[in-house]
Amino acid sequence: MTDDQTALALLRAVFGTADDDFAARDDDTPRLLYADRLDELTGTVVCPQCEGKKDYWVGLGCAQCARCDGVGRVPDGLAARAEFIRVQCEIHWREAGGWKGGSLDPAARLDALRQREDELLSSDTGWALVDGFHTTTRPDSHLFGTGSANGRYGAGLWRRGFVERVECTAAHWLAHADSLYWHAGRRVPCEICGGLAKAERLLGMTPEPADPDCVLCRGEGTLPRPCPPTAQPVAEVRLTELVPPVDLDNDPRGQIPYDFGVAVRHLCDERGIPCPGLHGDRITWPEAFAAIWPGVAFDFPDADYPDVD
Ligand SMILES: [Zn+2]
Ligand SMILES: [Zn+2]
Repeated sequence: MTDDQTALALLRAVFGTADDDFAARDDDTPRLLYADRLDELTGTVVCPQCEGKKDYWVGLGCAQCARCDGVGRVPDGLAARAEFIRVQCEIHWREAGGWKGGSLDPAARLDALRQREDELLSSDTGWALVDGFHTTTRPDSHLFGTGSANGRYGAGLWRRGFVERVECTAAHWLAHADSLYWHAGRRVPCEICGGLAKAERLLGMTPEPADPDCVLCRGEGTLPRPCPPTAQPVAEVRLTELVPPVDLDNDPRGQIPYDFGVAVRHLCDERGIPCPGLHGDRITWPEAFAAIWPGVAFDFPDADYPDVD
């Protein structure tokens, strides 16, 4: 992950650039351009094992650090991240039958790619750690189905270099959606005028219509939400559980479902949609989730949908 502005612009292109343009996600070109940029940026970081000291004391002797071979620095992982994107895109093309590139033995090439995919994912480089999720490259992994049921972690599937499918509880999705989800149409209040859209005359004075527009948002009052470097083009979310059960041993006040309800109401207010589960509101949970996170296909559990007020 990197905060390089060019890399972030290329990452945004992976998600699509217009409000409801999700077609970009099916295109590998933005992903490969992002990978090229990571290759340009890649470098080294201080070795986390020896903290750059190149060797350390073991008993009475001094041993060379095995992690960095006594160099004191290790690759920053961006090159591995870039290679992982290319490897997974090629696997996808080959499996879809669309690969026209020359390889004497396509089956052997696919095996080699699969092996490299595993090596890269297990290489000790922070990019493969997606906060709150255990990830895999195998859709038939044990992580799906049972692994995400405890609510502490979700499961994520890497496809074409990114996490495209996750499985978790609804509360877990809610807690991590901001670092995973990004959408070109999502806006946040302007940081200069705070949504007033007008240039401030004096601190604390209410702007008037004749006042000039705010210089940052140009009178919009909102700005595009920045794309977090951790964003993934998640297209499918399977929710294992809508509202977490009250854990009376650890949480005697039932705080977890209460927080969940408050969080959902906040998001619905932000989007100007009714909150599901409130008496009198006709909106369903799937309708609300689709409105809050456009472009994501949610798979809901069969359950009685509860009230959250
Ligand atoms: Zn070292
Ligand atoms: Zn503004």
